[in-house]
Amino acid sequence: MPPLKGDPGMSSRSCASCTLCCKLMGVPELKKPAARWCSDCDQAQGCTVYERRPPSCRNFACFWLMDDQFPDEMRPDRIHALLAFNDTPDSVVLHVDPAHPAAVRSAEVSALIDALLKNYQKLFVLMGRHSAMLTPSRWQQSQETIWGMDQPAAPSPPQRPVHQQKRG
Ligand code: SF4
Ligand code: SF4
Repeated sequence: MPPLKGDPGMSSRSCASCTLCCKLMGVPELKKPAARWCSDCDQAQGCTVYERRPPSCRNFACFWLMDDQFPDEMRPDRIHALLAFNDTPDSVVLHVDPAHPAAVRSAEVSALIDALLKNYQKLFVLMGRHSAMLTPSRWQQSQETIWGMDQPAAPSPPQRPVHQQKRG
């Protein structure tokens, strides 16, 4: 897997039928909590208020959308997870759909985590009310312990502003 840096501006991709960030990401302007579908989202068509969507939505793009090197088969709606920048450059956030808890252990997501921890010092994993903070050493030591996600949660990153609607 290539370096996964979420390089903005390098991609010609569009969201196509994916709308997952309209569920997984919180939208402060709308007081929409994370992990709950936005009431303005048509899951098949996208944003129904596209022209007046809030700035958080306009400014957001997940790594898959931003980076052509991100494997196509890892489009968020296919792996039930999306990757977003954090507020610090040494970490990123993997948002996993709590409706698909097995996704966090899937081969695709495990491969993604392996690749990310070669590039970042910390990876926050958020899945509904569960969270974990992974580091390269922690990931190598005990994946089973990490995914016993009812352990006391690692500090969560601040709520990210959210998502833009489909491009193209
Ligand atoms: S930006 Fe949102 S809708 Fe577009 S591919 Fe990423 S998660 Fe899916
Ligand atoms: S783009 Fe923003 S306003 Fe539109 S459906 Fe998605 S979360 Fe809601």
